[in-house]
Amino acid sequence: MHPLPLYLGGEWRIGRGAPLETRNPHDNSLLAEVSTADTADVAEAVSCAERAMADPAWRNLLPHQRALYLQRIAALIERDAERLAQLQRQDNGKPIHETRALVASAIGTFRYFAAACETLGGEITPPRGDYLSMSVYEPLGPIAAITPWNSPIASEAQKIAPALAAGNAVIVKPSELTPLLALELAKLADEAGLPKGLLSVLPGTGAITGAALVAHPGIRKVTFTGGTVTGRAIGRVAADKLMPVSLELGGKSPNIVCADADLAQAINGVLFGIFSSQGQSCIAGSRIFVARAIYDRFVAELVRRTEALRIGNPADTATQIGPLISRDHRAKVQGYVKLAQEEGGRILCGGAVPDDAGLEAGNYFQPALIDGLTNSCRTAREEIFGPVGVLLPFDDEDDLIAQANDSVYGLACGIWTADYRRAWRIARAVDAGTVWINTYKLFSIATPFGGNKESGMGREKALDGLRAYMRQKSVYWDLSGRPLPWAN
Ligand code: NDP
Repeated sequence: MHPLPLYLGGEWRIGRGAPLETRNPHDNSLLAEVSTADTADVAEAVSCAERAMADPAWRNLLPHQRALYLQRIAALIERDAERLAQLQRQDNGKPIHETRALVASAIGTFRYFAAACETLGGEITPPRGDYLSMSVYEPLGPIAAITPWNSPIASEAQKIAPALAAGNAVIVKPSELTPLLALELAKLADEAGLPKGLLSVLPGTGAITGAALVAHPGIRKVTFTGGTVTGRAIGRVAADKLMPVSLELGGKSPNIVCADADLAQAINGVLFGIFSSQGQSCIAGSRIFVARAIYDRFVAELVRRTEALRIGNPADTATQIGPLISRDHRAKVQGYVKLAQEEGGRILCGGAVPDDAGLEAGNYFQPALIDGLTNSCRTAREEIFGPVGVLLPFDDEDDLIAQANDSVYGLACGIWTADYRRAWRIARAVDAGTVWINTYKLFSIATPFGGNKESGMGREKALDGLRAYMRQKSVYWDLSGRPLPWAN
């Protein structure tokens, strides 16, 4: 098998790095060997990006003209949607209904930022004299977009579309575990006629390709989604370069069930919050706070429903729980179940490798619910990034809010209650970038997303997400014709 080429400066070619393998988490069969970029390839991609941005063919385009490329890319993703969803299912192991949703989200993202190009203007600022003053927006320069393995295509679209809409070139470094969808996006951008050099996709490891991109002086911003440890390392390099960085990092989000909640809705929301995507989600509702008055009843039903979740091949439309991304990751998740027991927790269900026929070769893991722990245990503090929910009873609202906020993370929060005043109070008191009331994992490209505390800095999506790829220039324009007072 020849490695798949990477996309550098508008050309498909074999990179100078060591090729890497990408495997199907369902059975660990080899999907593809992919060529990777070394530091010389990175430097070349940055030069191509700089040239492409300086070329009048791109530099002189007005925003509504740039939008045409985004619209074309969206239409091509839509044309290939089913093929892309199937490929992502194979590369990443998410059930097919989830990968279809991620492809749909990528289409919406390109369309949203295309539309934003049509309407986003600069500002005339209030003059304090006889002059015109304004703030105009310009692209930042070549952007490095570094993405994780859990939501390919949606993560890449969320960075590529606004970066291009703002007039930048962008170089994508997808996760070494899931490089295929980013390469597919490059093919579609190429077919859409995007000028060469504006997009490069460079698979490789974080240690080589990712680090080289972040450190390269020609990269003017890094937009990163991934773990907090990596985010911090990137932030340090960015500080030295005085380069803006946006970091979408980990989470340990509270999903709160109050005694007055619609329990049927809340159970569905809690299940979906922690177990969709096999819990491999930054916003997983992994700390499940339940009012003590309903705790036993709620937990008994939650366990029953968890045990009924359908684990299986992600190609099957009935599957709810697919495999984890890799055997290494499964071992890490299983290690947390063991840790929970050592910490005094009770495993109420799951937490083991299933013995179902046909799943032996994959990375499957039974969704687990654990109680008997406190919010201060490591199992309740550290991001597991797998299908493991910790159940925590609470007594009153103050106690709840103190516990919910007692975390280094601040990404998301769910609240289930019939009392709108309580919902509002808790929503405002919880330290999180996103709060869902009587729903969970609801998303819109028109609403900003990002984390507080160690869950990150900066916001993606929405118009704020587009501005994040621009810098402001202030222009003053004298209207009086009078010489400056100092010269008189
Ligand atoms: P990692 O932080 O390990 O990796 C993310 C990306 O960074 C990968 O492409 C990785 O490369 C690359 N990378 C690793 N080291 C460096 C480095 N020194 N310099 C530059 N790039 C580097 O995270 P995972 O891929 O394991 O993803 C899971 C994490 O992502 C979880 O913590 C999760 O919470 C977080 N996440 C956050 C989201 C959010 O929006 N807040 C959304 C989704 C996930 P490599 O290919 O070698 O892995």
